[in-house]
Amino acid sequence: MKKDIIKKIPKNILNLLKEIGEAAEDFGCQAFAAGGFVRDLFLNTQNLDIDIVMEKDAAEFAKKLAKKKGWKVKTYKKFGTAALILSDDFKIDITSARSERYKSPAALPQVKAGLLSEDIMRRDFTINTVLINISPKNFGEITDMFSGVQDIKNKTVKVLHDISFIDDPTRILRAIKFATRFNFTIDPHAQVLIKEAVEQNIFARLSGKRFFTELKYILKEKDPVLPLRKLFEYKIIQTIHPDIASDSDALFFLNRIKEVILWHKKNDYLKWALHFMCLLNNCGKKASEDICRYFEIPHNRKILFCDMRLEAKSLLNDIEKNKIAYKKISVFKTELILYMMAFLKNPLKREKLFKAYKRAKNTKVTVNGNDLIKLGVKPGPIFSEIIDKLFEAKVKGEVATKEEEIDYIKKHFLHNRN
Ligand code: ATP
Repeated sequence: MKKDIIKKIPKNILNLLKEIGEAAEDFGCQAFAAGGFVRDLFLNTQNLDIDIVMEKDAAEFAKKLAKKKGWKVKTYKKFGTAALILSDDFKIDITSARSERYKSPAALPQVKAGLLSEDIMRRDFTINTVLINISPKNFGEITDMFSGVQDIKNKTVKVLHDISFIDDPTRILRAIKFATRFNFTIDPHAQVLIKEAVEQNIFARLSGKRFFTELKYILKEKDPVLPLRKLFEYKIIQTIHPDIASDSDALFFLNRIKEVILWHKKNDYLKWALHFMCLLNNCGKKASEDICRYFEIPHNRKILFCDMRLEAKSLLNDIEKNKIAYKKISVFKTELILYMMAFLKNPLKREKLFKAYKRAKNTKVTVNGNDLIKLGVKPGPIFSEIIDKLFEAKVKGEVATKEEEIDYIKKHFLHNRN
């Protein structure tokens, strides 16, 4: 098994791990690759999120190694963790082995430096407990305290102990995420534990911020519909707010979103935000704000979910009648347009909206308030009326230059002044 697993590690990563293992030996301890990186090696899935664990001070070690190699480093002394930053898009996390104690259900644990065996015991699922030794003498040796390799082969998500979900309900979301991502099953006993935890209303004890962090990971999954369906089945989404979309509404709409995403092809939008908006679909302003407050969603995103989303919905009736508010949609982000498109049943109308959006985004009116005053228009609501109409004419290619803009204004707004 040792040789097989080493063969699966890409050459450049292998050399890096060897180098880190040697440096750890000089530092006086062994180091191990852990977590998702190891799990995914057994699954033959590329994962370059490397986590290293060691029994000595990871922050000190990382600083020393970074200095020697000329790498950047970020240390989090309080947590005994560090990130070696090798380039803009490649980092390696190093952590000190730690033990955790949960004083009350769903609260953050008390953490202290611990042994490697304790560090394994604090983990979420057996599939995430496998370690690969990267120290020179034992390179490639596997530590598998909980038969994680077998569970990976059996495609099963198992917890390490019966109160795992009570200690940390975010693990319920993680279990669903891994099961749907890898097409694994959640072991029947763990399924019972999830149901019991939900029945005990464990999510009411979890902070909204932690809930949302994990939910957001799910919304970023390749196909978020699969885990979301499970979250509805376990009645977890329903704990968020009474006005949250019902399972049938949300799933119907999520499938519409799927069609729109397939059509769009590009990756230039916030996938999690688009899917989150489906869950908010039935929520008015007050309910959306309550949910954003509970999840501690930052202000700029709150504006998107509570204000712009509702404004976008309010434009849909007109769009169905082929009337597009060009100026308004020109400031929307792509995720909001894709969200609007999902409401339109007719693919041609969807396409028309997207094309209008692209054109509106690239349109700028040159005439400003001063120009309007010079033309004799009195400041007031008429200003935005003129600019909006002019904007529309520009999007449609009816005017191009500033002179043409002024002629347009004279013709359409000032014709009976002279
Ligand atoms: P992904 O592929 O989604 O990034 P991952 O397994 O790499 O998944 P991370 O969130 O990066 O997951 O966490 C790294 C490791 O830390 C996990 O493999 C797991 O062992 C441990 N871990 C993360 N979150 C928890 C948790 N809530 N409870 C226990 N262990 C956890």
